[in-house]
Amino acid sequence: MRLLEHQAKQLLSEFGIPVPRGLVCRDAEAAAAAWDQIGASAGGLVLKAQVPIGKRGKGGGVSVVRSRAHAEDAASALLQMTVGGFAVTEILAEELVPISAELYLSVLTDTSPAHPRPLLMISARGGMDIEELAAAAPDSLYRLHADPAYGLHPYQARELARRSGLSVEGQGALTKIIGATYRAYWESDAELVEINPLALTTAGDLVAVDAKVTIDNAARGRHPDIKGAEIDSVETRAAAMGLSYVELEGDIGLISNGAGLTMATMDHLALLGGRPANFLDTGERILRGGIADGMGLLLSNPRVNAVLINVFGGGVRCDVIAQKIVEAVGALPAGHLPVVATLHGRNEEAGRAILSEAGLHGLWAPATIQEALETVVKLAAQRSGGGGGNELPAAERGTGS
Ligand code: GDP
Ligand code: MN
Repeated sequence: MRLLEHQAKQLLSEFGIPVPRGLVCRDAEAAAAAWDQIGASAGGLVLKAQVPIGKRGKGGGVSVVRSRAHAEDAASALLQMTVGGFAVTEILAEELVPISAELYLSVLTDTSPAHPRPLLMISARGGMDIEELAAAAPDSLYRLHADPAYGLHPYQARELARRSGLSVEGQGALTKIIGATYRAYWESDAELVEINPLALTTAGDLVAVDAKVTIDNAARGRHPDIKGAEIDSVETRAAAMGLSYVELEGDIGLISNGAGLTMATMDHLALLGGRPANFLDTGERILRGGIADGMGLLLSNPRVNAVLINVFGGGVRCDVIAQKIVEAVGALPAGHLPVVATLHGRNEEAGRAILSEAGLHGLWAPATIQEALETVVKLAAQRSGGGGGNELPAAERGTGS
């Protein structure tokens, strides 16, 4: 779960990290009020689009204003913008911080070692994002792993601070901020806490001018108080439906039951040259709308060229599942994507008979998994216009057409 900047800063400030004074605004009047409360005494405001992506500055999502009227105008303009594909509905109006240097500081879960560990990174050349920084000034980036069993040792925080290029007093304050950043990461079950820039003000103070936090989705139940960006992704819609769904790059939509069968089906598809568009495990919802809901999710993905349903009837019988498939496919609009369904387990013969006897246009019901996979790979290739191209032999079709 990605937090918006103001949510991330709220979290960081709870751990004692200094952040600029700011107010969230949804209209120009609120921005004028922020000017009166904060901007007038600070000599300026920074208005920042609250969208869940970085590089907003380059996308026109950050404005510096130095008067009340300008604050109103800039806020109105921002609230009509789309930044990185997200409509701007909220802006954060913050005091303009006089910056003398910009640092980069982050803690993230490094999943590349056999035992994933927190990785801390610091650079005296903040402001750029990490990819640019790693490319433009790799030597300026200092990296250090913490041992999750012990946490971040004080000597490690001091070592990171030493690499900042700050004065000795500055390093003292920075060491505290590094410790607090690690605690914020650890105690919030974050995957990433990034402060960029961590600004050194002209008065010599350190302030988190921008913050990016993502929380491990699996830990969200432990943090009901942490609010994140409301993003209407397929993943969040699937989660709300009680389906386990992960979007992938390919063009074959997949519906399966059980994580093991779903992954094995994906591997098998890949062996035959097919590319799954997603992982979708209906789990317990197989009989309670899981197939129809899953189909809806897959068909909303424009990359999908064909759908494969591969289910195992263990606790639930294949004939009952087949009925659900017939209902779901029957409800699709005419000319829908080809659907290939294969069922194995209890009452599989009866299940297959239901699929073929339904006589649905665009539904294939091969007897074996191998045939089903070959069929769906071929159908997807035909649909994408590349490769394949051959008409399928009638024998491979469950129900004709
Ligand atoms: P991002 O582009 O989405 O990463 O948004 P940031 O919040 O990092 O803002 C982009 C840049 O705007 C920062 O790197 C700063 O250089 C500048 N900026 C943001 N807030 C302030 C501020 O309060 N004072 C000054 N002087 N510059 C700021
Ligand atoms: Mn930034």
